[in-house]
Amino acid sequence: MTARIIDGTRIGKEIREEVRIEVQELKRQGVQPGLAALLVGDNPASQVYVRNKIRTCENLGIYSRELRLASDTTTQELLTTIEALNRDEAIDGILVQLPLPRQIDEPAILLAVTPQKDVDGLHPINAGNLALGRKSLTPCTPTGVVEILRREKISLEGSHAVVVGRSNLVGKPQAFLLLQEHATVTICHSRTRHLPQVCREADILVAAIGKPGFITAEFVRPGAVVIDVGINKIAGESLSGALEADPSLRAQCEKNRAENKDYVLTGDVNFSSVAAVASAITPVPGGVGPLTIAMLMKNTVQAARLRRRNP
Ligand code: NAP
Repeated sequence: MTARIIDGTRIGKEIREEVRIEVQELKRQGVQPGLAALLVGDNPASQVYVRNKIRTCENLGIYSRELRLASDTTTQELLTTIEALNRDEAIDGILVQLPLPRQIDEPAILLAVTPQKDVDGLHPINAGNLALGRKSLTPCTPTGVVEILRREKISLEGSHAVVVGRSNLVGKPQAFLLLQEHATVTICHSRTRHLPQVCREADILVAAIGKPGFITAEFVRPGAVVIDVGINKIAGESLSGALEADPSLRAQCEKNRAENKDYVLTGDVNFSSVAAVASAITPVPGGVGPLTIAMLMKNTVQAARLRRRNP
């Protein structure tokens, strides 16, 4: 079997177009959704993520504000900024770009964002509502995974979904979102015994581990759907080993080299190995990644509606 490759770039674009139309309609009603993105410090990857989010807002007609704070910002200073944004009528969504510098109390920051503006879905109230099966703002990446499955018409009801990873950002909310869609869900993690065997039980296997190429054909039942959430940058000495283990990375490597970029991006799934047995698979890049920003935009519009009781 050769898996169908799911085009996350196309799906992300489709969702952004839908959001653009929704924003136009809201504007006609006198509502302009607004997003504030908070960046603390000068982590280059975070700078790129925030820039992309702001640019996408601009493209879709969402008001946006980027707030940059110095890398030595204290928890109290960040809390003060968040409290002002909580009260700001122009702002519907507050995004705090993670990771935060070490000196900052991250749980205190996530708790400070008012749940109504928590477009990352990380506030304990939103996480709790998700666990209780109530309507809430939910984390963008796992919500994007469900959106992919829905748009690809992959049936979830009664299916066995196995999620590898139990982080608060991806694994846990992913499991609850799949449960809401009536899948039977198994959550695996670093202490799971007989992991390949458990994964082989899956109709839908979601990998959110942070280990390049970890999931191979051995973990996949023939015909299963495999969703790769992982994003790993491989450079330097590890590059040749990665290319040998997963020849599908070669084309990307050549393209990147031509652009003077000496790295490849890969997921948690060995694409070459798994695509030979799965029925459908998301690639990296171009799979789950593009959904994250699209769902952030969707959450911002949802937050704008909810705040004005216009769901
Ligand atoms: P994380 O917080 O590091 O969590 C990783 C999870 O994987 C943990 O629950 C860990 O188990 C589990 N794990 C680690 N090694 C394992 C092993 N050998 N066997 C089974 N489970 C193992 O990472 P995360 O934030 O959830 O992110 C996961 C991946 O998704 C990363 O590659 C990240 O870059 C990517 N990501 C992508 C997007 C996107 O936009 N596409 C967004 C967010 C994250 P324990 O809990 O037992 O330690």
